[in-house]
Amino acid sequence: MRRPRLSLSTKVLALVLVPLVLQLATLFWVAKLENDAEVLLLESINAKKISDAINVLSQDVYEYIGEFGRDNPLRHVTTGDEKLQMLHRRHELHYKQLKDSVQHDAKLYECVVASEQAAYKTFGLIRRLEEIPEDGPEQVQKLRKKLWKDVRKDVKSILGGGLLEHAAQQEKLAEVDAVEQARLRELSKQLMILIAIADTIIAIAVAFYLTRTIANRLSILNENSLRLAANVPLHTPIGGNDEIATVDKTFHSMAMTLKEAAKKERAIIDNARDFICSIDSNGKFSAANPASQTVLHHAPENLLGTHFADYVADSRENVLQIFANLKTQGDSSPVELRMKRSDGTIVHVLLSAHFSKEEDATFCVIHDITERRKAETLKQEVMAMVTHDLRTPLSTLRHIFTFLETGKHGKLDEKGNDFINAGGRNVDRLLTLVNDLLDVEKADSGQMHIERTKVSLNECFDASVSSLTVFAESKDVKLDFVETDLIVMGDEERIDRILNNLIGNAVKFSPKGGKVTLSAEREIAKGGRELAVIAVRDEGEGIPEDKLENIFEKFQQVERRSENNQEKGSGLGLAICRAFVQLHGGKIWAESKIGEGSIFKFTLPLA
Ligand code: ADP
Repeated sequence: MRRPRLSLSTKVLALVLVPLVLQLATLFWVAKLENDAEVLLLESINAKKISDAINVLSQDVYEYIGEFGRDNPLRHVTTGDEKLQMLHRRHELHYKQLKDSVQHDAKLYECVVASEQAAYKTFGLIRRLEEIPEDGPEQVQKLRKKLWKDVRKDVKSILGGGLLEHAAQQEKLAEVDAVEQARLRELSKQLMILIAIADTIIAIAVAFYLTRTIANRLSILNENSLRLAANVPLHTPIGGNDEIATVDKTFHSMAMTLKEAAKKERAIIDNARDFICSIDSNGKFSAANPASQTVLHHAPENLLGTHFADYVADSRENVLQIFANLKTQGDSSPVELRMKRSDGTIVHVLLSAHFSKEEDATFCVIHDITERRKAETLKQEVMAMVTHDLRTPLSTLRHIFTFLETGKHGKLDEKGNDFINAGGRNVDRLLTLVNDLLDVEKADSGQMHIERTKVSLNECFDASVSSLTVFAESKDVKLDFVETDLIVMGDEERIDRILNNLIGNAVKFSPKGGKVTLSAEREIAKGGRELAVIAVRDEGEGIPEDKLENIFEKFQQVERRSENNQEKGSGLGLAICRAFVQLHGGKIWAESKIGEGSIFKFTLPLA
């Protein structure tokens, strides 16, 4: 059978409310007992008061009888006798008080009223006796005697009619009430003690229950979270169906999900082709995936605890520097490294690493690029071979055309000369293309080096303008430069190549009658470095904005309807310019607006 679902708040509420209700009920009971005792006390006091009042009355009566109950003393009584007057007043007062006290008891009240009437009757007889002379005729004396008899008889009836019995009864009632009141007071005292004991027991029981049901279970929850972090199996699920049990259930299912996710992650890492590892703060492997076997020919378990740098074939300091930099920067761009395999062979790898501050560890992905390296080397070798094998016969052809143009080996007719010129131009284009390709490949593979000297920009401008003036004139384009005294540090030959390329393009894409201008300006870069910004400005048709970056990539050209195929270049010129500028530590970019011309700018360090 399913247990009723009691929430934690309901349980706590019940724990507080049940004893509270019990306490309140007992307190009400005690209050009632106290009230009953109070009523009994009042009753007892009243009964005592009544019995006392009757006793006082009876004393008054006896005093009265004692004073006036015999023949003789009465003779001395005269109207206005002080003692008699006082007794009368006392009587009146005591009867009034007694009547007030017995109002609740009709029978007793009746009895008191009868006694009062008898008393007044007696007082009336005594007053009449006072008026009759003591020494009158016999008839008068007879009347006095008779009155005396009546007085004595009435005096008795004052206390008759059960008044004295009532007094005794009230006395007894007062005693009984006092005993009952004491009993009730004792009972309420006992109840109070019982509540105190019950309170203590309940408090202990509640504390025990709360500890068992809440604190203990919460500590299991807490322990479970630590176990999850330490990858230790969790406690069995907490029983019950309150909030704690629900949280525990959710925690268990969350732990299960995490376990599943970790399993999947592990599977991905285990099956990855790249060597994935973590390296601790001492530079030692703390975890490695099975790909270590394929990449380094070392089983992962053999790597653990060994130093990463021991497997690197390059300079050890270099590797330590990479890891030191990682600690400050977090991530690094991938670095190419050479690593040693167990059999001593070298493997080229690309190392991508990330440093985690929380774990104080570096996580690395090591990708085997040996094959790619081989392919690149092969490509370079092929390129070198092709370009060399092409360049040599092309150069020979160029010489042959030059010789033929001189006419030393016989004159050609006009058509023959045209063929020779066209052939020479085409060989030139091919030679340029081969040279450009060679330069691009050299730049890409990092084999290109520059020799820096102080170079006068003005001289460079002058030389480039002079060499391209004929070309510019053939296009009806004006070529000019703004004089400058800036001296840069660079490779003069390469700077000339950059300028020639940019000017060549500017002239090529200028309209007839257009103007191409060269200029240079001094600029202070961010780190305080002084630069020369060289600009080649034309008035051509411009370059679309989305192509401004693109044109510096290899073989990138802007489609133009007006361009004639004869002039179509290889798309390598700007790529070479960028490679040369970067070799100088500068940058190159283009600014242009369609229809308003373009400005190509590049920076070089000032000498
Ligand atoms: P190409 O041999 O085709 O000139 P480049 O790399 O020198 O190769 O130039 C790439 C492309 O950039 C050119 O095809 C041309 O479309 C565009 N370009 C270069 N310079 C200019 C210029 N001054 N004005 C307009 N377009 C230009």
